[in-house]
Amino acid sequence: MRTALGEHALLERLRRLVRNPPPWITLGIGDDAAIVEPDRGTLTAISTDALIEDVHFRRSWTGPGAIGHKALAVALSDLAAMGAAPRASLLSLALPAGFPVEEFDELIQGFAALASSSSAALVGGNIARSPGPLVLDVTVMGSVRRRRWLTRAGARAGDELFVTGSLGAAAAGLAMLESAVDSSALDEPERECIARYERPEPRLRMGLVIARNRAATAAIDLSDGLADGARQIAAASRCGVVIEAGRVPMHPGVGRWAQRSAADPLPLALSGGEDYELLFAVSPRQRRAFEAAAKKGGKPAVTRVGRLSREPGAWLEREGRLEPLGEGFSH
Ligand SMILES: [Mg+2]
Repeated sequence: MRTALGEHALLERLRRLVRNPPPWITLGIGDDAAIVEPDRGTLTAISTDALIEDVHFRRSWTGPGAIGHKALAVALSDLAAMGAAPRASLLSLALPAGFPVEEFDELIQGFAALASSSSAALVGGNIARSPGPLVLDVTVMGSVRRRRWLTRAGARAGDELFVTGSLGAAAAGLAMLESAVDSSALDEPERECIARYERPEPRLRMGLVIARNRAATAAIDLSDGLADGARQIAAASRCGVVIEAGRVPMHPGVGRWAQRSAADPLPLALSGGEDYELLFAVSPRQRRAFEAAAKKGGKPAVTRVGRLSREPGAWLEREGRLEPLGEGFSH
């Protein structure tokens, strides 16, 4: 079924697919605006992100459910980096002419499932016709406690850098999709890379626990790779940064894929975007508190990957020698 449905009919479908708003949503989807009850004693963090067809995803590679999931995940990842607890989300959709209704439903279901599991209730948005690509524009709101949020700017020389999980999986997954490799020829860790590219998991709990325990001096989410994230923290905090090549936690599928495609795995981990892991700066006296809090933050575990330095610049330390750190990922 190709959609000839207008905005009102699509909104009605959307409303039926999105149910059970949490108690703080006083007025949800359907009116001119939503009403969200403030969380007592907290401040509101707000962020927005857009996914554009053929810039951030291809419909021939990624199914509509994954596209809906990812659009919300990348916006929530910014809240995770601030240490904010999600409360509400808004979705503005621009649909190409003839966008199938089944795909619309799957896209909304992908979005709504993550919205529900992460407490980012979908409270409104907009649906318009796009003259070209499919566009999903997502705004998220979360609450943070006073003085218990994280920015990129609080780090100092001597602080250590820790990253959640493993890196390079999304970039390897994208490379697999681009090369149109037969997925039955891939092994399990490699297929996991494709899943990580399509359905990133924002590290909300980890960001929240580290922020509430004041266990880090700075944080950022890795949308554009470790090298870019490290540079951003260093620049905002006015110091230099060193990444230790031997410590970078690589996703197991990255090595397999690199072998198969005769590529170097390290650049995938350093400059490959879209892993959406968190990078924290931790002062030496916070280190034990950080490690204890990170345990409470659950899986995946954190790994120390480098340090902030007095000397300016961004460096990669490999076998005891420093070389310039490469650039980040550009969509
Ligand atoms: Mg970010």
